[in-house]
Amino acid sequence: MHFNELNLSQELIMAVDDLGFEEMTEIQEKSIPLLLEGTDLIGRSNTGTGKTAAFGIPAIESITAEMSRCLQVLILCPTRELAMQACDELKKFAKYKKWVKPAAVYGGASMEKQIYTLKRGANIVVGTPGRVMDHIRRRTLKLDNIKTVILDEADEMLNMGFRDDIESILNDIPQEHQTVLFSATMPPEIMNITKKYQNNPAVIKIAAKYKTVDLIQQFYFEVAMGRKTDALKLLLAAYQPKSSMVFCNTKKMVDELTEALLSGGFKAVGLHGDMKQSQRTQVMNSFKCGATSILVATDVAARGIDVSGIDAVFNYDIPQDNEYYIHRIGRTGRAGHTGAAYTLVSGRRQVNELKDISRYTKAEIIHMELPEKDDIIDIKLQSLKSDITELLQNNISEAAYDLIENLENNGISPKKIAAALINRQLDEVISSLPEFDIPKPIRRNKNRPAVNTVKVDISIGRNQRIAPNFILGALVDATGMSGREFGKIDIFDKHTTVEVPESESDYVIDAMNFIKINGHQVEVKLYDGKSKSSEKRFDRDKSDNRRKRFDKFKGNKKRPETHPERKRRPKKRH
Ligand code: ADP
Ligand code: MG
Repeated sequence: MHFNELNLSQELIMAVDDLGFEEMTEIQEKSIPLLLEGTDLIGRSNTGTGKTAAFGIPAIESITAEMSRCLQVLILCPTRELAMQACDELKKFAKYKKWVKPAAVYGGASMEKQIYTLKRGANIVVGTPGRVMDHIRRRTLKLDNIKTVILDEADEMLNMGFRDDIESILNDIPQEHQTVLFSATMPPEIMNITKKYQNNPAVIKIAAKYKTVDLIQQFYFEVAMGRKTDALKLLLAAYQPKSSMVFCNTKKMVDELTEALLSGGFKAVGLHGDMKQSQRTQVMNSFKCGATSILVATDVAARGIDVSGIDAVFNYDIPQDNEYYIHRIGRTGRAGHTGAAYTLVSGRRQVNELKDISRYTKAEIIHMELPEKDDIIDIKLQSLKSDITELLQNNISEAAYDLIENLENNGISPKKIAAALINRQLDEVISSLPEFDIPKPIRRNKNRPAVNTVKVDISIGRNQRIAPNFILGALVDATGMSGREFGKIDIFDKHTTVEVPESESDYVIDAMNFIKINGHQVEVKLYDGKSKSSEKRFDRDKSDNRRKRFDKFKGNKKRPETHPERKRRPKKRH
């Protein structure tokens, strides 16, 4: 259905035409007619399905010129970026309606400027709940003439702790009004708000068809613990996306990873909630205009951000929630373009989590091997080849030919000159690669029954206030094995030993190294049986047997080709 089949004003049809929108999206088709009639509404649909227009178009149509100096529509959003983005989009729809004045208010920005904009007669306000509350208290926002309130990404606002603010705002609106709510999920808290503040709402649910997701090719890579940053660098070097987003689960990780990418020569910027508003705006602008090609972000900071032309999404950390996965990869493959999503997983448990995501999204996530240095050089050579072919179509300046002639006169062949230039390009790629080839994660050997056990040694103990359940929890967590597969846990002052199936010991050591237990970074290795006499705890008869097995094991050379990093790490003394 086309927008002009609705009963919209000429001004709006023109603005929508200018934006190049033709067909309505499903959520728009179903909600715009109801919203124009003033119905309360609950809307659920995936990210990237055009919800802003779905509530924005009716909101703009409802603003009357006679009351244009009063605030008539209030839209609440979870983040500053979303408020700005929605406000920008509203301004585009309102292009030919001079009396419609959208304004955005959000924390972390100058109060004075916002007050000035509000005083100049903003009649649609898009804001974050906290700052909206602030303005209400200062009487710079007046709710007396509000006709419509819209909660965008309501579930996310509740997740972020805005519940009280939202309720207080809704309670403060004195008169009858339309209440509209958009949310990706419907947890009970949302149902409560709905019951309390909505009047017989229409429910529009667009079944997740994963339309956008269909256009996104999805891959995953198994990466040894602690090597995800290197793996990401390899992938960035191999695929060379013009514009990409990298998702981390924590703010700290965003900072660390951005730093690591920058020092590896990649053009990366970080975005998370602890940054100042001015910084965040700067980051978004530099990413949108292409000055930086890699945006590293947390889920919340990136929620709903709409940047076109992102060709790859990387899940540096596996998302904590299936829905987040869809939100994340939905950043690429927008507006019918194809895109790719790459997920890094460490350890069996994460592989299982990803399988769960794949079931949930009904999409195939394909396992791939990480590229190796030679693959990357091959890829770069291919792309240089096509670049050069393309360059040859352009005019080449006389000056360039002159320089070559000059060099040729000095006995340097054109072939050599070309090779040197190509080599410089290759060097650039190679210098950005991690120093080491990344070891393949060691897979669990499922087929062999675990009869024999060996001990592994973990570098924390009683002095770090460690209890057996911390150790067991960490083991299960990192390996995805069941707790029953582990044997006796002996905690000493400075270290702990755990019996593990011999066939799994490589896997366990690989999975446990680099992780933190109770806040302590641990080092894990095969137990060499030497502990200080005061700490000896195991009984002699058994220990002899185990030593034998351990020697056999060593002779077997089944110890993994250790990561270069691990080899270089100084041994801790017990
Ligand atoms: P959501 O809020 O559902 O995540 P947005 O409102 O941010 O989605 O819209 C995603 C993108 O789709 C925006 O760039 C928007 O301009 C564009 N868009 C919205 N509606 C249409 C439409 N009917 N035709 C084409 N593009 C549209
Ligand atoms: Mg949105």
